[in-house]
Amino acid sequence: ILRHSSGFSSTHEKVAAPPMVYIAGEEMTHYATQLLVEQWIKPYFDISKWETYDLSCKSRDESEDKVLSDAVEAGKRIGAIFKEPTITPSAIQVQEMGLKKAWGSPNGAMRRGWNGITISRDTIHIEGIELGYKNQVLFERHAVGGEYGAGWNEVGEGTLLTTYIPKDGGAPFVVDKRDLTDKHNVCVVYHNPYDNVRELAHLFFKRCLEHHVTPYIVTKKTVFKWQEGFWATMKKVFDESYKDDFLKAGLLDRSGGDLQHLISDAATMQLIRWTDGGFGMAAHNYDGKFGLLLCDMLTDQIAQVHRSPGFITSNLVGVSDDGSTLIKEFEASHGTVTDLWNDHLAGKETSLNPLGLVEALLGAMTHAAQLEADAKPKEKKVQEMKAFVDNYAKTLREALHNTFRYGQGTRDMCGPTGFTTEDFIAKVAWRLDR
Ligand code: NAD
Repeated sequence: ILRHSSGFSSTHEKVAAPPMVYIAGEEMTHYATQLLVEQWIKPYFDISKWETYDLSCKSRDESEDKVLSDAVEAGKRIGAIFKEPTITPSAIQVQEMGLKKAWGSPNGAMRRGWNGITISRDTIHIEGIELGYKNQVLFERHAVGGEYGAGWNEVGEGTLLTTYIPKDGGAPFVVDKRDLTDKHNVCVVYHNPYDNVRELAHLFFKRCLEHHVTPYIVTKKTVFKWQEGFWATMKKVFDESYKDDFLKAGLLDRSGGDLQHLISDAATMQLIRWTDGGFGMAAHNYDGKFGLLLCDMLTDQIAQVHRSPGFITSNLVGVSDDGSTLIKEFEASHGTVTDLWNDHLAGKETSLNPLGLVEALLGAMTHAAQLEADAKPKEKKVQEMKAFVDNYAKTLREALHNTFRYGQGTRDMCGPTGFTTEDFIAKVAWRLDR
């Protein structure tokens, strides 16, 4: 079933998987990913060139978080990253796990280290099975700036000045001055870096065309006036480079023949109403409204509309320091699935849907193969490896989807008669090697 273009099959010689960063996490998703790598990947690939970094709380604690900076460095060097979900420890978890401190979310370090442009979240579809959204839905979120990187402090009565000091030695000026009359205040300062919004726009519109969906730009610029620039840049890139293609493809019929702006309140409602799918939404990073919602809460809502958190991907796209290579990190949108992990530890049956994890793993493997093939266009063996990886990804997807189609999917899809975590993985392994 997994024929290599040079003629050898999975049962004979393993193909050397190109270098990739593998970030290991913990709990249920770590357990399930280890199982599926063992049964789905290792029979076909020699994965000794993968570099693994353990970002479990214990490992970050023991290494004083050096493991995180090592992982970011490796991602920069290699450009293709798979990440299992990780735990960002709460105060209670710090106590329970006996950690030295509450290590922060690893995401900020990754987005900075890889010059993050966008975080993409897409619905996963299985042909022949109706999930929540009938057609593809894409979400694009600017990967930097906003409240995520805010500076803040608690202060008393007085005056708060935010002063800009230009790098070129120009005269400083006050961006904001406010008098604080309460005795207790919390002050927050953040900014939105706009240099790479053009790249974000290009990535978003290209993806919308590729997936044949209608693009929308979401902001709260009616109230947050400073967001006008984000919309203006997106619209300019659209008009200059994409409008004609979208018109030709008939993709602007539902949006009045042009790129449409949606206020985040309206967008939040449409997410529930537009169950036909076929749209994409691009937003700021954390902006106190849609970007934040999209990342943390709306994703769970979208996941419920679309049946399960297992049917949504989450990818970070960044760029190398010299701008020459796209760095791509792939993960599932859900967390470590603590409740199923507790059931597993208690000896109960579990049923984890691994589709988001697998799409992430395949995304990282195919990107790694693409980077290697681009770097060595004349090496026949490398081109054959890339063809094998592409063929493998297609075949594994088919094996997975067929398993769902034959009613042997996980319980989030198939109800109580669905397969357990372990049985599902074993069934797909069997189907893959037939
Ligand atoms: P979660 O996404 O792990 O689980 C939420 C609910 O959805 C649970 O009931 C779970 O059983 C269900 N669920 C999620 N994915 C599923 C799947 N693939 N198949 C079947 N059911 C699935 O979110 P949570 O419980 O809020 O968080 C658990 C841990 O994950 C926390 O420690 C949190 O810090 C971490 N987290 C990590 C990331 C990340 O690394 N990207 C993202 C979110 C949460």
